[in-house]
Amino acid sequence: MWTRVAPQPSELARPFWDGCNEGKLLLQRCLGCGSFIHHPEPECPRCGCAELTFDEVCGTGRIETFTVVHRSFVPGYQDVTPYAVGWIALPEQANLRIFSAIVGERAPAAIAIDAPVTVVFELVDGFGAVPLFELS
Ligand SMILES: [Zn+2]
Repeated sequence: MWTRVAPQPSELARPFWDGCNEGKLLLQRCLGCGSFIHHPEPECPRCGCAELTFDEVCGTGRIETFTVVHRSFVPGYQDVTPYAVGWIALPEQANLRIFSAIVGERAPAAIAIDAPVTVVFELVDGFGAVPLFELS
């Protein structure tokens, strides 16, 4: 059974985590050029605009790359190997990615590059919801 490590969010990332608790994947977005930004930044890395918001993305994506962990040194994760983590390419924008655990009944055996995934939210004790991606 997982005992996931609780994230330690920065203030910049607070809307992202608030969205997770509402079952929404919210990513920072620049009001100047419309770019999505992940991880959150104080200014848009594309245009320098500091007027930023958070917008919901569709929550689907494709596995860009991944690894299967067979021996973990993370406290609480030794007993849940093998598990998979990877970069999920999101469809809203070129080069928009989120790093995530990849879960589901068929994971990790059926995980493959370019496989479609969908966000799911899991409650972590004492923290709240965290996003994970499940094989579609
Ligand atoms: Zn911008």
